[in-house]
Amino acid sequence: MTATELLQDRYAATVMLTYGVPPVALARGSGCTVWDVDGNAYLDLVGGIAVSSLGHAHPAIVAAVTRQVSTLVHTSNLYLHERQVELAERLLELLGSDGRVFLANSGAEANEAAIKLVRRRQGPDRPVFVAAEHSFHGRTMGALSLTGKDSIREPFAPFGTQVRFVPYGDPAALAEAVGPDCAAVVLEPCLGEGGVVPAPPGYLAAARAACDAAGALLVLDEVQSGIGRTGHWFAHQQEGVLPDVLTLAKGLGGGLPIGACVGIGPSGSGLAKGDHGSTFGGNPVACAAALAVLDTIERDGLLGHVGKVGDQLAAAIEALGHPLVTGVRGSGLWRAIALRGNAAAAVEAAARSAGFLVNAVQPDAIRLAPPLILTEAEAESFTAALPGILDSASVLA
Ligand SMILES: *Cc1c(COP(=O)(O)O)cnc(C)c1O
Repeated sequence: MTATELLQDRYAATVMLTYGVPPVALARGSGCTVWDVDGNAYLDLVGGIAVSSLGHAHPAIVAAVTRQVSTLVHTSNLYLHERQVELAERLLELLGSDGRVFLANSGAEANEAAIKLVRRRQGPDRPVFVAAEHSFHGRTMGALSLTGKDSIREPFAPFGTQVRFVPYGDPAALAEAVGPDCAAVVLEPCLGEGGVVPAPPGYLAAARAACDAAGALLVLDEVQSGIGRTGHWFAHQQEGVLPDVLTLAKGLGGGLPIGACVGIGPSGSGLAKGDHGSTFGGNPVACAAALAVLDTIERDGLLGHVGKVGDQLAAAIEALGHPLVTGVRGSGLWRAIALRGNAAAAVEAAARSAGFLVNAVQPDAIRLAPPLILTEAEAESFTAALPGILDSASVLA
């Protein structure tokens, strides 16, 4: 038995099988490479699902977290601390807007804060949220109620939130759904779990206009798209559309658990004293990691790097002209390889055998969300191996 198999057996016996039993047991990482417990190396093109923005064991995160752990790990929110204030200031500065930040520990929690903020601002006469089919907003009951994937939402109904789902990317359907009973529209700028499906140009602007016309708030869930993933600090900046509420998490902490709900303009005052809270939210260690992520993205010019390497990666995959590939979607270092037929699981497995971690985000799409520090050479090593991976997947599928 391999070390992986031994660990999988212990996992299967004791850990709730909400994820099944994962095929790889990771032991350590450095840069964009991870090693499993049997010593096999993989180029990590998943990045912990768009989380490990600076890769693994990045010196800036190691230094910031080490310093903070040995100074002050936890305060609760009965006491404030400097890292939390610095992070809130930095996020608002990057947004170029006034507002206020609530710090949480995950994407779902950031969205729960957004839901409560909307409820508080809009009151009981506007009970309806509008969200998109194929969207993903998290697994807690509020966030799940907004998630447009029936198979994961319906088993847990009923919910306390009234949600009207619209087809993603259709501005007319959206405008029709946003009426006087609507509190907010909640959208991802590009579907993440839905398969890295970007909104058509003008969709976010149309959502903004529909919200303004009806008196609804616009909530953008940038839990996956934010913090440099698309080559911009926030994906909405590409479209020049400012939301009322912005949620962040995944890439923000570079692997440390942190989420943020940003109320922009008057929405910053949507939640008052006593309205919300989190014991761990805004934890000094997570905040220190997030500040190191933001500083490093800026200092190392990673936004430009992400745009450049991402475009090269997409162009190189398309240039292969492989019969299994129908196209490449997305922007920056956030791409889906669209496949003919439901070949994604086979491609993921074949890539793993060849030493690459990729994610079968949909039955017919492979997601790439590598660390933002992925080098051109690392990207090329993948595109060089890809024809062989696709060939062996064609046999498996
Ligand atoms: C991952 C994700 C979430 C949920 O984040 P968790 O940290 O898993 O709770 C919410 N929204 C989007 C867009 C996501 O990609």
